[in-house]
Amino acid sequence: MKILILTDMEGVAGVLNHDGWVIPEGRFYDKGLRLLTGEVNAAVDGFFAAGADEVVVRDGHGFGGIDPELLDERALLSRGPAEQGFPCVIHDTYDAVAVVGQHAKAGTPYSHITHTQWFNFINIDVNGISIGEYGQVSLCAMELGIPTILACGEEALCKEAQALTPGVVTVSGKRGLMADGLDELDTDAYRVAKLGALHKSPAVVRRLIGQGAKAALEKLKKTPEAFKYPALTAPYKRTIRYRQEGDKAAYEAVVEHPNSFISLMNIPF
Ligand SMILES: [Zn+2]
Repeated sequence: MKILILTDMEGVAGVLNHDGWVIPEGRFYDKGLRLLTGEVNAAVDGFFAAGADEVVVRDGHGFGGIDPELLDERALLSRGPAEQGFPCVIHDTYDAVAVVGQHAKAGTPYSHITHTQWFNFINIDVNGISIGEYGQVSLCAMELGIPTILACGEEALCKEAQALTPGVVTVSGKRGLMADGLDELDTDAYRVAKLGALHKSPAVVRRLIGQGAKAALEKLKKTPEAFKYPALTAPYKRTIRYRQEGDKAAYEAVVEHPNSFISLMNIPF
């Protein structure tokens, strides 16, 4: 079986804030790379333990989040521009998709470093379903007929994943300490509004992710029907609400596509 792991960075346990840990100028960026790569290696190991034949890791963090040298030598690393932004290099040769290091969508209470895309989004809605980055990835996989079997990241992301894609195995590494309801904040204020969290030890989280990955692939082999997707059917309508930014007031942008979620997501934001 061939597994694709899509990674992000803000949802990793031990990644303590945005500016210090997930951007190259940050003092702890290299440590952030190590922490994410450690969580990814745990997932790679769990998938191979459950009988995976190939595991590809797609580094999905804008600035990059994987240290290639530290990545499990059995995994392949995918990075750099693909033909199009979506479906995030997922294609139908994969048997399953997993996410590691993911954070919850903009507006989520008790999430850490909360955002969708950047801190300028209030919400993305597709046909009445509010989605963040997890939803973008998993619903692309849905269109390609591939189950999303594992979601690792902060606790709020685990809840988001279970609600959107019931049956997905989740592993939580930290819990945000701030409520939300902050739609009135502008981008700069929202960027620093959700920086508190309670973290599990990275060593503990890696153990849990290894067990979760193994359990997820075993579950896929035994009961593939246990992984569910929401009822989302064509035509597709995407509504994005943007935050106020400087002098520019909050606004909404709507686009539609007659038959493809992936094509809808490739319409520029
Ligand atoms: Zn992200």
